[in-house]
Amino acid sequence: MTKGVFFDRDGIINQVIYDMVLGRISTPLNPNQIVLVPKIVDLLRLTKQKGYLNIIVSNQPMIGLKRISEDGFATITDRVVNLLKKENAIIDDQFYCFHHPYALIPKYKKKCSCRKPGIDLITQAQKKHDIDLKKSWFIGDGTFDIIAGHKSGCKTILVTNVEESAYLHEFEKRLGKVKPDFIVKNLGEIKHFFDPRGSYHID
Ligand SMILES: [Mg+2]
Ligand SMILES: [Zn+2]
Repeated sequence: MTKGVFFDRDGIINQVIYDMVLGRISTPLNPNQIVLVPKIVDLLRLTKQKGYLNIIVSNQPMIGLKRISEDGFATITDRVVNLLKKENAIIDDQFYCFHHPYALIPKYKKKCSCRKPGIDLITQAQKKHDIDLKKSWFIGDGTFDIIAGHKSGCKTILVTNVEESAYLHEFEKRLGKVKPDFIVKNLGEIKHFFDPRGSYHID
């Protein structure tokens, strides 16, 4: 058995962008918009060094919603992984849900159980790599990430990417009874969990 760190993609690996059509922050739709989140390279190197598989688990409904082509999505994925690889930050595997209840492309229009907060993608990864979920972590910036990680038995870290406590209150409301194991404001704070002199260990 092995252990893994599951990473949400948008907002954790690559930065989110402002989507003019949606009028809110969302996923990059163009490879030129890909900017890595500060400290993600250090974190991926660290988790790898500690013996974890680095696995992306991400909802990506934009193909189904006709905002990006399959090729366009593949280009973005390659760009993310290659940017990281150049920095010696290795992604071991990636699991995506392309479904959406309101998708415009029939094969993606589905109320599936792989879309987070569903846990099917985590289960698939667990089976493929023989992962001990109790020794694994889910790191995400959304409530769906924390709920999926929690349901699958991983420890969870909510990265708020914000300083204001008003947002935290909103997160808590949306999480209901689920509590993230840890809440940090940015990825830089996570490395302390690995520090043997720190209060917490990711082990
Ligand atoms: Mg996210
Ligand atoms: Zn799905």
